[in-house]
Amino acid sequence: MEKIDIKSLTLEELKAEMQTISQKPFRAVQLYEWMHKKLARSFDEMSNLSKELREQCKERYTFTALQAIQVQESKIDGTKKYLFELSDGNVVESVWMKYKHGNSVCISSQVGCRMGCRFCASTLDGLERSLLPSEMLDQIYEITRLTGERVSNVVVMGTGEPMDNYDNLLKFIRLLTDENGLNISQRNLTVSTCGLVPQMRKLAEEQLQITLALSLHATTNEKRRKLMPIANKYSLDELMEACAYYFDKTGRRITFEYSLVGGVNDTDEDARELIALVRPLNCHVNLIPVNPIAERDYVESAKEQVQAFKNKLEKNKINVTIRREMGRDIDGACGQLRRRHKLESGLKEG
Ligand code: SAH
Repeated sequence: MEKIDIKSLTLEELKAEMQTISQKPFRAVQLYEWMHKKLARSFDEMSNLSKELREQCKERYTFTALQAIQVQESKIDGTKKYLFELSDGNVVESVWMKYKHGNSVCISSQVGCRMGCRFCASTLDGLERSLLPSEMLDQIYEITRLTGERVSNVVVMGTGEPMDNYDNLLKFIRLLTDENGLNISQRNLTVSTCGLVPQMRKLAEEQLQITLALSLHATTNEKRRKLMPIANKYSLDELMEACAYYFDKTGRRITFEYSLVGGVNDTDEDARELIALVRPLNCHVNLIPVNPIAERDYVESAKEQVQAFKNKLEKNKINVTIRREMGRDIDGACGQLRRRHKLESGLKEG
């Protein structure tokens, strides 16, 4: 019999599980609390459960746990970047950021990625596998344990395309925002996608209060196709319709992410086109100066260019911010730390 991943079960599912092994429902409540509130790392920590039950659990369930194998702390802003090893030896990275309004964690949703965005380091070696709901939670739980501080905001903007791991993502959201667990507010959770239209529409229908961020990065289909292969599958019209649908269904304002690449998407014309594209929507635009990766020759836009781009949007009454660059000194961009680790361990082995 294949073992069940216990940390990915909802409280209801766990109660049903306890019933099948002839345990009382309150055992499920205890187990759930150990996993999702006290953030236990193993069954052995669960001191109010009998040794017998703990042994039974070990036989029947897997208990995911991450091992921090590298931590980098930014000297500029205190941002911490964690490299975690999963139970099967794969590694993922997560980032902890301290803001005035609370601590924010950026998590990965997959090991690698198959979306192929040209400027992104996470996708260079393709997709290894998707993460389980428990493995997404573990990144937040482990960082909470290690820092000793509560996490108030979560962004699914690390390695991977969350909509390419839809069912596990949904389960993760339910568990993370469950009042019996860490009870993080749905409003403090952002999921970022490169634009998988059917899943965006499906998410809209779940009626959650989370923020949907769309990685736009270009204002014409032609330009977007050059940066993001997914644009060959879904047109900008389809994407914008899906965003409008998300707002209609949830009342949540869409965030558009726009990474500025010098000479590629940062001209006055691009700004004009962007304004025309997003103006009909209730939205917020987040400008991100592209973080150059060694494998590609994209360069970031000049500071004045970024500011001019922002001013144009503001003049047209678009809500816009420039993403503060956190942890630039510690391989801040998606996938860079993991990639470096992979290359270095490859060298050692080879
Ligand atoms: N797959 C999802 C989430 C992960 S990427 C998505 O595409 O949205 C998180 C954000 O960082 C996306 O907007 C992505 O396009 C952007 N990004 C990736 N690499 C970057 C880089 N080198 N510089 C700037 N932004 C980058």
